This record gives sequence, C-alpha cells and structure tokens, in this order.
Amino acid sequence: MSTPSSTPVFRFAPSPNGRLHLGHAYSALCNERAARRVRGRLLLRIEDIDPTRCRREFEDAIVEDLAWLGIAFDGAIRRQSEQIDDYDAALQRLQSRDLVYPCLCTRGEIAKAGSGARDPDGAPLHRGRCVGVAPQEIVARLVAGEPAALRLDLARARALAPVELSWREFGEGESGRNIVAAPEAWGDVVLRGKERPAAYHLAVVVDDAAQGVSDVVRGRDLYASTSVHRLLQALLGLPAPRYHHHRLALGADGAKLSKSAASLSLAALREAGLGAREIRAALGFEPDVATSLRVTLS
Ligand code: GLU
Repeated sequence: MSTPSSTPVFRFAPSPNGRLHLGHAYSALCNERAARRVRGRLLLRIEDIDPTRCRREFEDAIVEDLAWLGIAFDGAIRRQSEQIDDYDAALQRLQSRDLVYPCLCTRGEIAKAGSGARDPDGAPLHRGRCVGVAPQEIVARLVAGEPAALRLDLARARALAPVELSWREFGEGESGRNIVAAPEAWGDVVLRGKERPAAYHLAVVVDDAAQGVSDVVRGRDLYASTSVHRLLQALLGLPAPRYHHHRLALGADGAKLSKSAASLSLAALREAGLGAREIRAALGFEPDVATSLRVTLS
C-alpha cells in the first residue's frame, strides 16, 4: 500500500442535497482538527454527482454554513459534476480489463432474482451478470437505446486485485490498525448509474487520488464502503489514503441524523440564536465554552 509522503491533505466532501446538520459539522470539525494538528491542507469537495438530488443553492448554503462555523478551506472547491471526464477515463481503464458490464435490471428484478441478501446500504445484492435477461435481449435493448447501469464484475475484479486487500484505520486518534477489506459484501457495485454519470464509489476514489488526499476523515456510516474503495484503488493503481472513520451525531431517538432532520440543521440552530462556538462546544471542540445543546456521538 503506498503512503503519500509530502504535506498531508484532508477533505470534507458533503453532497449538496440538503442543509448541513450537526453530523456534518462534526465531520468538518474532525477534518479541521486533524489537518491543523499535522499542518496539513484542508480541501472542500462538493459531491454533486447525482443530478436528481443535488442543487446549486444547497452548495451555496453549505459554503455559508461552513464559513459561519469558522472553518477555512485551502484551494478551490472541486465539484464532482465538473469531473465527468476523469470518471469516464477510470471507467474505461476498468472496461479495458473486462471488469465492467451493462446492467438493465431494476431494483425489483434484482430483489426477485436474489436470495434476499442485501449490501451494507440495504440494497438487494447483485452478483453476476444480469441473470434474468437473455444475452441477446440485453444486446437488443442496449441497441434500442435503453439506459443501462454499468457494474463492476466483482468476481473478476477480486481475482485481479491483490489477495491481501486492506487499509490503515485510525478511527478518532487511535494508532493505526490494519483492516482487511471485504468488498464481497457489496456484490457487483454500480460504477455508473442509469441517471448518474458516475456512482459514489467510483467518483470518490478518483477524486481522492486527483486531489492527493492522504487522509480520509469521514463518518462510520462509510466504513463498509472503504472495502470497495480499496478494491477500486487497487484495480486503478491509485494510492491508498489513511482512513479515520469517526463517530456519528445521533438524534434524540438514537438514529443517525439525516438531512431531513431539519430542526438540527446548522441554519435552524443559528436562527434559534445559537452561536458557532456553542455548536463547536456541543460537539466537543471548545472545552471552555458552556452550551445547553446536547449531542450524542456514537
Ligand atoms: N458525500 C458523502 C456524504 O455527504 C461523503 C463521502 C465521503 O466522505 O467519502 O455523506
């Protein structure tokens, strides 16, 4: 596994599909603290690859909320919607090794054909080339212009990637440990969706490499995804960053905060009169400041 050597590079990578909430603030602050500790660079990446959900006004709001929180970023914003050529080039490299196939299946068809197994995100697992549709029918439908998703042939990818696939995990300030990657849990992941120019897993590894990211600091909800990221990095010959998966901010019901938890958006808290220092304090970054805001991290 190659380790980048020069100035450490961190990134905060929100998707502009809603307002930032306390969970995002925690992630951004973890990145800021980690970058500051090692005099690293902190980049802002806008993960706006999903045209059906992302909106420019949310990007503007994200920039405003982060500035209000007092977090400064280095360099220009990288927007995924502007990097389609990079994703296409990566896809072509995988295609040239016969690692990608078009898939016409709907979610329902995958669920029906499968054993009920689901990937770590809860989607029905897709293993093996579209079993439900005859090869001639696939060709005919593709020729007729039906949009297809592009999937990674996991069995073939696994055979080509190093047997020992792992990453260095540092959690929240622990000394590094080796985690063995288990991409099998994801089945044949989508690399390009029917309506998305690149899927998250492909875009994120291309972006992390393009931006020279040495340290990925992000929530534990993405821990399982790291297995796929390591596989794609190995297949594309990209360096492996160090990974630091942090705790998540939980709502009063103990569930992970989502962008729909509008009451805990930074904008709503600000409108309710809270200051940025109180938010930082509630998340454990400002030990000397008192705050009535209570946040559970887990
Ligand atoms: N865009 C993702 C999110 O908003 C973060 C992806 C990452 O940090 O790898 O949850």
